[in-house]
Amino acid sequence: GTDAEKHRDLLAAENERLRQEMKACEGELRELRRLQQQAPCRDCPHLQENAGLQEQLSQLQREAEETRAKLVELDLEVQQKTNRLAEVELRLKDSLAERAEEEERLSRRLRDSQETIASLKSQPQQIKYIIKTVEVESAKAKQALCETQSRNQYLQEQVGMQRQVLKEMEQQLQSSQKTEAQLRAQIMLYEAELERAHGQMLEEMQTMEEEKNRAIEEAFSRAQVEMKAVHENLAGVRTNLLTLQPALRTLTHDYNSLKRQVRDFPLLLQETLRSARAEISQAIEEVHSTNRELLRKYRRELQLRKKCHNELVRLKGNIRVFGRVRPITKEDGEGPEASNAVTFDTDDDAVLHLLHKGKQVSFELDKVFPPQASQEEVFQEVQALVTSCIDGYNVCIFAYGQTGAGKTYTMEGTAANPGINQRALQLLFSEVRGKAADWDYAITVSAAEIYNESLRDLLGKEPQEKLEIKLCPDGSGQLYVPGLTEFRVQSVEDINKVFEFGHVKRVTECTNLNEHSSRSHALLIITVRGLDRSTGLRTTGKLNLVDLAGSERVGRSGAEGSRLREAQHINKSLSALGDVIYALRSRQGHVPFRNSKLTYLLQDSLSGDSKTLMMVQVSPAEKNTSETLCSLKFAERVRSVELGPVSRKAELASWPSQEQLEVTKGLLGDSPGSAATPGRGHTSHSSGHLSSRSASIRRKLQTSG
Ligand code: ADP
Ligand code: MG
Repeated sequence: GTDAEKHRDLLAAENERLRQEMKACEGELRELRRLQQQAPCRDCPHLQENAGLQEQLSQLQREAEETRAKLVELDLEVQQKTNRLAEVELRLKDSLAERAEEEERLSRRLRDSQETIASLKSQPQQIKYIIKTVEVESAKAKQALCETQSRNQYLQEQVGMQRQVLKEMEQQLQSSQKTEAQLRAQIMLYEAELERAHGQMLEEMQTMEEEKNRAIEEAFSRAQVEMKAVHENLAGVRTNLLTLQPALRTLTHDYNSLKRQVRDFPLLLQETLRSARAEISQAIEEVHSTNRELLRKYRRELQLRKKCHNELVRLKGNIRVFGRVRPITKEDGEGPEASNAVTFDTDDDAVLHLLHKGKQVSFELDKVFPPQASQEEVFQEVQALVTSCIDGYNVCIFAYGQTGAGKTYTMEGTAANPGINQRALQLLFSEVRGKAADWDYAITVSAAEIYNESLRDLLGKEPQEKLEIKLCPDGSGQLYVPGLTEFRVQSVEDINKVFEFGHVKRVTECTNLNEHSSRSHALLIITVRGLDRSTGLRTTGKLNLVDLAGSERVGRSGAEGSRLREAQHINKSLSALGDVIYALRSRQGHVPFRNSKLTYLLQDSLSGDSKTLMMVQVSPAEKNTSETLCSLKFAERVRSVELGPVSRKAELASWPSQEQLEVTKGLLGDSPGSAATPGRGHTSHSSGHLSSRSASIRRKLQTSG
């Protein structure tokens, strides 16, 4: 115990010393702080740092405090351990005393037991003696003997029991001794343990002491080092601050200017956007106004154009002349006879040149289709005419030319490549469908043939029956053909059926179709009747598609009988057509419609607002140049009939008849009808100077009027 006490005293003294040192340290710190406060930096930016350092300092102090608390704790622990040790010692002492007591008690009992055994050993002699005496005694004695014997028995039993007890006692003694030995060993163990604990405690105290010293030393040296570092930092920061101040000033300045810029930026942006928007809208406005202006001008131009167009149409008398040259075919044969005699102008699609007997003759029409022109291309030029009959106009399209020049090809075409007839009907169907929202339309077709000046219905039951052309009884002045079959058609299938029907009729009615068709005019009459559902307005337009008889001069020599009559009829009707067209274009008061069945039938489709197209078909083959020349002259004469003084003068001269054409063919312009020779003086014939003079006069008149 005394060792531990001494040790504790030593520790306490050490503690006291450490406390003293701590106090000295604190004093030093206080001194340092005081010094710092005495020389504070005025409005110093280091204050913050100082505060940080102080913070660190207080942290260190706190740590020292904690260490101190830990020390006190350790002290307490040491105290507790010492107390516990004392307790353990006390308990040990008690248990030792108890052990001794127990030992003594046990040895006492042992002794008592040994005494009892000795006394009991001496008893049996006495009993034997008693037995002997009883044997010599009487019955009474015997009884007494019995009693004694039973008692003896009892005593013997007692002795046995005592022996038993003794034995047990001995055993108990032995076990007690064993226990004692055990206890002793345990005591030894405890003592060793105690010794060890004591040593351990001393060791622990030693290490704790060392730790404490070390911690205090460390804390102190750390505080010192940190203090020094703080001072150094302080000095560094001070110099840094001095150098940083100007940089900070410029930075602040920059920052402020940037801030101003940022603040002003949205305003600037808005301003720019506003002005840009204004500019754009102004530009748009300008574009709009320009557009409006342009649109106004465009409309005015359109109106002007329409007026001009109408004027042109009026001047031309609604009559157009196209030329179409078919390609050279196998039927033309081979050799010089089948060589090409027709050439075209690459810059002007209205001009064509014919090489006839070594001379080139040029013609100008409204348009010329070269051999490679497709059915589609031809139709495109015709389609405006076709659609105008939906608007109530009457239209005539004639195919004129010698047999084999392509009239039927242009009008009917082939199954694979249909001509104007079928394309016109298809176009009418689609146009009518397009207007179906407002209009009801009915399209009907009739097919007729004029042969030898008699009109026959190609769709009727009696094809041989000759039909008459009559004036409408309603007094409208319109003509009609009683008994002419009209089929309502609504689709391409319908028209195919109608064409087939008409074709079959025509084929069965004549022995040689080619010959027959070359001497008859074939007419397809399409009537478009419309009703505007909203206004109740009704329109009727007629499209007459005519495949004329061959224009070749038949039977001029040696034709007799029916051949001659045919030729005369054809001649008559073709020249009648020429006369009518001529009269119409030159605005003559009298138009000789009644001179032929054809012109009479088409009267209302040739006069008034009606539009006429003459498609002049020619063969390019060398052997056909005479006929080609004739056809082209016919075409150009139809076309070159013009209004104005010249045409009025021309009024005096009559249209050259087919015969005259033939006659003048050789003379070329020397006839009285030559007043109407080609306008541009293309013809390069011998007396060309005459016609070119008349052309130049005409041109002058045109430009002046
Ligand atoms: P026309 O009816 O004037 O007597 P056709 O139309 O019967 O003449 O034509 C005579 C031949 O020439 C026919 O075999 C026809 O197919 C052909 N033909 C006419 N024009 C053309 C053309 N533009 N392209 C191809 N072949 C044509
Ligand atoms: Mg034909």
